[in-house]
Amino acid sequence: MLEVSDLEVSYGGVQALRGLSLTVGEGEIVALLGNNGAGKTTTLSAVSGLVRPGAGRIVYEGDDITRAAPPKIVGRGLVHVPEGRRIFSTLTVHDNLLLGGYLVRDAKELARRVDRAYSLLPKLAERRAQHGGTLSGGEQQMLAIGRALVAGPRLLMLDEPSMGLAPLIVAAVMDVIRDINEAGTAVLLVEQNAKAALKIAHRGYVIENGRCVLDGPAADLAADSRVVEAYLGGV
Ligand code: ATP
Repeated sequence: MLEVSDLEVSYGGVQALRGLSLTVGEGEIVALLGNNGAGKTTTLSAVSGLVRPGAGRIVYEGDDITRAAPPKIVGRGLVHVPEGRRIFSTLTVHDNLLLGGYLVRDAKELARRVDRAYSLLPKLAERRAQHGGTLSGGEQQMLAIGRALVAGPRLLMLDEPSMGLAPLIVAAVMDVIRDINEAGTAVLLVEQNAKAALKIAHRGYVIENGRCVLDGPAADLAADSRVVEAYLGGV
């Protein structure tokens, strides 16, 4: 479904990606793990067209999208939930969700998608008239995910959805991601919380210094001594 090959991205003199390759298959949850600055966010930004790679190729559903414009990429169902949620705090939950459908012309289709987001995220339905800024951190993350659902993802890319959340809330967010996946959406999940991500992922990649250094089924990575030492807090 998504095939990233030999991607290189530089910010001025800083090379963030140095030949990064990964794939996401239909129906998969793929975790992208690595420390601060490893290149995880840059990978998602390159796939969504927000930064331009100097080299490499991004193929989505058979088409080269390496140089496609971001709205075109979203329109094809490749939807990115950025780090830090970025919801609109002075708009209601409902209006935040509607904004996720800015490319949807058909009002009925938009209403259907918003209803679907409410059914996958029932907490949001209870809070629909509340301003985004009054939600808890976990609810704001759910809202950011809900807004992405309204955009109609076939592949959902999530950047650190667990960031700043208490463990119980992290588990709730991971459950929601699994539900979304089971309903038919592939997921590329960037996480520093390797433990939480590997619990729901099918496969994973470990990134260091802008390239993948390890990949495999999530259960194998969770048992790999290098992953345990570096990302799971030792044994
Ligand atoms: P984090 O978890 O901190 O977001 P990350 O693995 O997502 O880390 P990136 O944000 O992709 O890593 O950063 C990769 C490298 O690129 C880092 O060295 C970072 O300092 C650098 N970098 C990222 N964004 C920029 C930018 N806008 N300008 C300059 N350098 C950047």
